Amino acid sequence: MISVVGSVNVDLAVRVPRLPRPGETVQGEDAQVGLGGKGANQAVAAARLGADVGLVAAVGADAFGRLALEQLAREGVQTGRVKRSPRPTGLALIGVDAAGQNSILVSPGANADLAPEDLDGQALAHSAWVVVQLEIPRPAWRRALAAAREAGCRVALNASPVAPGLGLAELEGADWLIVNEVEAAQLLRAEPTADPGRALEYARRLAGRAANAVVTLGEQGAVFAGAAGEGHAAGRRVRAVDTTGAGDTFSGALVVALSEGASAAEAVGFANAAAALATTRPGAAAAMPRRAELEPR
Ligand code: ADP
Repeated sequence: MISVVGSVNVDLAVRVPRLPRPGETVQGEDAQVGLGGKGANQAVAAARLGADVGLVAAVGADAFGRLALEQLAREGVQTGRVKRSPRPTGLALIGVDAAGQNSILVSPGANADLAPEDLDGQALAHSAWVVVQLEIPRPAWRRALAAAREAGCRVALNASPVAPGLGLAELEGADWLIVNEVEAAQLLRAEPTADPGRALEYARRLAGRAANAVVTLGEQGAVFAGAAGEGHAAGRRVRAVDTTGAGDTFSGALVVALSEGASAAEAVGFANAAAALATTRPGAAAAMPRRAELEPR
């Protein structure tokens, strides 16, 4: 089983002709209500690709929490370890203008209530792989990393978002560290680069802290380095319409392939293919591919 430790949000998105200025009200199209948050998205990505997936997270005891749990269950994600917090379910209020630019208000709510104690005991038992992101409180993700290692699980850490001052030393010990090009630069205190050669250099430096590191490069695919080898998996040429959730699809797919015994190059190629397909359809979780849509590895 793959256990994903991370955030759950409900996303409320409205397309508007232009984003409102302070004090202004702008009318938009019908609202789109969907599941979001990096934890929920990565769990759905892995479940759609056929893995046995459980989520360790927190939602509120409110209507949005019920909506999120229902949606997760419909996707086949096990929710028995999602706690009910007295705080409201995490919410993202998203405005998208005619040019596709967005403004997003996030209220972490119950996500901020996920605590180290929630990762104790049996929380990660029976997990071959544990997937962690940083959209939950620092004590919780730190405990998740330590508990996963204590339980002998393999660990994939998607170091996103990178909070100011986050040090690489805190991220030590993952089997796979997954970041995009901006996050790689933030962690290394370096200039962002879209050049695969330079990004590979960044991946090598990050792999000093984890067994392996992968840096995603949007349409250019991803580079990886570390104990399992190194290389550049070129991006798939697709007509991208919405890249929301591409990174989450990539993380979920990478771990599914690794958990099935794929080599690093195969796993990164598979993740590229899954994430590229997700960009060809609107939405985050809604756009994620199912196994039958991908070529066998
Ligand atoms: P994030 O979504 O975190 O910013 P990226 O933009 O690097 O991350 O995208 C993650 C992955 O999604 C890439 O490594 C690639 O596999 C895929 N991807 C993203 N954008 C495109 C695109 N325009 N064409 C093909 N693949 C894409």
